[in-house]
Amino acid sequence: MKIGIYGGTFNPPHLGHMTSARLAMEMLGLDRLLFVPAAIPPHKALPEGSPSPEDRLAMTVIAADSLLLRDKVAVDDLELRREGKSFTVDTLRQFREEYPGDELWFLMGSDMLFSLPEWHLPEEICALAGLAAFARSEGDEPERMEVQAERMRADYGARVTVLRLPEVVEVSSTRLRAQLAGGEGAEFLPPSVYGYILRMGLYGTHKDLRHLTDAELRACSLSMVYAKRHAHILGVEEEAVRLARRWGADEELARRAGILHDCTKYLELEQQLQICDEYGIVLDDLERISVKLLHSKTGAALARHLYGQPEEICQAIFWHTTGKADMTRLEKIIYLADYMEPNRDFPGVEELRKLCYEDLDAALQMGLEMSIEELRERGVPIHRNTQGALDWLLEHRKG
Ligand code: ATP
Repeated sequence: MKIGIYGGTFNPPHLGHMTSARLAMEMLGLDRLLFVPAAIPPHKALPEGSPSPEDRLAMTVIAADSLLLRDKVAVDDLELRREGKSFTVDTLRQFREEYPGDELWFLMGSDMLFSLPEWHLPEEICALAGLAAFARSEGDEPERMEVQAERMRADYGARVTVLRLPEVVEVSSTRLRAQLAGGEGAEFLPPSVYGYILRMGLYGTHKDLRHLTDAELRACSLSMVYAKRHAHILGVEEEAVRLARRWGADEELARRAGILHDCTKYLELEQQLQICDEYGIVLDDLERISVKLLHSKTGAALARHLYGQPEEICQAIFWHTTGKADMTRLEKIIYLADYMEPNRDFPGVEELRKLCYEDLDAALQMGLEMSIEELRERGVPIHRNTQGALDWLLEHRKG
C-alpha cells in the first residue's frame, strides 16, 4: 500500500493544503492519505491566541472530510497525543512500525523541502519515507526545487519526487489568520472549516451567530454535518428558494430554513436528547428512541436559540421530517424540497417534482403517501403527525 503523510500545523487548514493533498494523492497514486496536525511544531512557534490543539484537530478532520474520500483520507492525532515537540522523524518512526511493509511518502510544500536540512535528523527522515514536494506559490520554480531534490538525494540518499501540481492555491495560514481577524479570507477555506471558525469564534472572528449573512449561516450549517450531506443541504436550499418563488412565499425564509434544516442530522441520540432537555422540547415515545425524528426538533431549537432565526423558519425545520396537519406554505415547501431536491433519485421523483410546481397540496399528499408506504415496507412505525398530515389533506382537499 502507498501511504501519504501530510504534516502541518493546520492553523487553520486551508485550500492550499487540501488542493495540494488531493492532487498529490492522484499523481502519486496513493491508497491512503493521513493528515498529521503537529502539537508543538519544532520550527515555528504557534502564535499567541492560537486555537487549542482540539480545535486544530477538529478543523483538520472537517477539512479532510471535505475531500469526500472517506475510505482513503483520514487524520491521525499521534503528534497531538505525544509529549513534547513534534519531530517528523519520531512520527515517521511510529508510522514505519505501524505499517512495516508499506510505501511511505511524506508530502511537503516547497518551503519545507528547502528547510529540510535544518530539521532534526534529516537523514533518518529520508530513510523512513520518500519525499513528495510541490510548489506552494506560482513563483516557486520547479527547477530550483529539482536542484534541492538532487542535493537531498546526494546528501541523504533521499527518494524525492518534485510534483508539478496543475493547480496551486496561493495562501498561507499566517496570512489567512490576519485576514480572518479583519473579516476576510473565507474564500481560502473549505466552507465547513470557515463555519467551524465562526461557530467557535476563532482567529478573532467573534461573529454574532444570531446575525449571520446567508453565506456565514451556510458555512456554519455545513460545519456541523459530514461532507457527504453537503450536496443535499445545498440542494434543499436551492429547491426551497425555487418553490418559494413559484408559490409566492418568502424566498429568504425558505433559503434559511433549507440551509439549517439538517444541521443536527449527525448528532448522537444522547446529544439530541440533551438539546431537547435544554430547550424544553417535549418528546413522545417514538421520538425518544428515534434519532431520525429528533434532528428536526433539535435543528429547530438551534435555529431559534443559537442562530436567532424567526419562528416561521424554526417551525418549517421542526416539521420537515414528519409533517403535520394543516401545514403552512413554508412548512410544505421545506418538506417537499427535502423530498425531491435535485440530488434525490428514486422511482416517482420526477412526477413528484413536476407536481410540486403545479399543485403544492397534491404534491404534499403524494409525498406523504410515498413516505408512509416506504415506512410500511421497511416495517418502521409511522409517526402520528405524518398520518395526521395526510388525513388533514384528504379531508380538506376534497372539500
Ligand atoms: P504558515 O503560514 O505558518 O507557514 P502554512 O500555510 O505553511 O502555515 P502549515 O500547516 O504549516 O501551513 O503547512 C503544512 C504543509 O502544507 C507544509 O508542507 C507546507 O509547505 C504546505 N503548504 C502550506 N500552504 C500550502 C499551499 N498554499 N500550497 C501547497 N502546500 C502548502
